[in-house]
Amino acid sequence: MDFSLNEEQMAIRQTCREFAEQEIKPIAEEIDATGSFPYALVRQMGELGLLGLPFPEEYGGAGADFLSYCLAIEEISRGDVSVGITMEAHTSLGATPFFLFGSQQQKEQYLVPLARGEQLWAFGLTEPEAGSDSGGTRTRAVLQDGCWHINGSKAFITNAGTDMTGGVTITAVTGRTAKGRPEISNIIVPRDTPGYVIGKAYKKMGWKASDTRPLAFEDCQVPEGNILGRPGDGFKQFLLILDAGRVAIAALSVGLAQACLDEALSYAQQRKQFGQPISKFQAIQFKLADMDMEIELARLMYYKAAWLHMQGKPYTREASMAKLFASETAKRAADQAVQIHGGYGYMDEYPVSRYWRSVKINEIGEGTSEVQRMLIAKQLGC
Ligand SMILES: Cc1cc2nc3c(=O)[nH]c(=O)nc-3n(C[C@H](O)[C@H](O)[C@H](O)COP(=O)(O)OP(=O)(O)OC[C@H]3O[C@@H](n4cnc5c(N)ncnc54)[C@H](O)[C@@H]3O)c2cc1C
Repeated sequence: MDFSLNEEQMAIRQTCREFAEQEIKPIAEEIDATGSFPYALVRQMGELGLLGLPFPEEYGGAGADFLSYCLAIEEISRGDVSVGITMEAHTSLGATPFFLFGSQQQKEQYLVPLARGEQLWAFGLTEPEAGSDSGGTRTRAVLQDGCWHINGSKAFITNAGTDMTGGVTITAVTGRTAKGRPEISNIIVPRDTPGYVIGKAYKKMGWKASDTRPLAFEDCQVPEGNILGRPGDGFKQFLLILDAGRVAIAALSVGLAQACLDEALSYAQQRKQFGQPISKFQAIQFKLADMDMEIELARLMYYKAAWLHMQGKPYTREASMAKLFASETAKRAADQAVQIHGGYGYMDEYPVSRYWRSVKINEIGEGTSEVQRMLIAKQLGC
């Protein structure tokens, strides 16, 4: 078994590590405090090719493999998770559906500017009444006179309202199956379409410098051709999108957990109590050792899931396990990092307080921990 990364994977990881150290970390506290979307940084990431990493060069991408993309997400998130989720939601949720299911014309029109980092794109699955039960979509799209007439709403949609956003791909009920079940399709809605209303950004506990909004569709009309694949393909499509997305979220969680360990270790080596650095106390050492061990395990889990995906093998189980374990590892790491900082960890000027606020969402977005356990149990035959 070979766990080593190839040269390209190591180079991408190194580039992202340096970018995170030099460009992201110095502004992370400020963008969190002001809740401002870091446009200059995101544009810079586009120029570096980071917003189109896993897509072929012919579509404006960098032609990197899926593991390289996950390594990049880990390093960028180690710098700041708001920036990490902006990149992940754009790539895994926004651009990937065009790559996997788009026609040649849709790839040229939509994927190319996204992969080049000229635009961001959002994916709208969640609704006020349909979260974990994503098949319970209520938004409807009715085909009339060559146009889809869309009515409904979406909740918590990342990257939907930035100045760089080109639009959103949404799930909508477009009919009924032969068994009478709702037929779900993915419909492309460009930003300035009349009847598409982008709501005010939510005020959030963490991920404050990422863009999250409610969306409404009021007789919003898009051409018949703005569908990904065939009518009724939507459910199958988003399950595939979410499998890969979960591996990337696992990488994001590992990046955040690693940032917690970085800060906790450095603080423990400097902070003196009882005449010596607190890192000399075994109780602190054990916390650091457990963090290191769990992070390594979570990292190996996302490597394996990414590898299976790249081999074209089934990886739904491993993707859910990686996402679940990595997000819970990150939560424990953030908690221990604050504990190791004592009272200072509760103060905003220490990054660990920001990490602690930001970590919770990892157990909720792209399928809650309960949903991941349900998916794993399903694979067991339950
Ligand atoms: C910051 C942020 C960004 C997001 N970005 C996006 C995005 O870009 N696109 C998008 O489509 N969505 C996005 N989401 C939505 C996210 O995916 C949902 O919040 C998530 O899937 C959970 O849905 P819900 O919030 O409706 O919770 P619910 O489904 O209402 O769940 C509430 C609780 O009940 C539990 N539960 C539900 N069903 C079961 C069950 N059968 N068995 C056991 N427990 C169950 C859940 O695990 C959870 O603990 C985002 C959310 C946030 C907060």
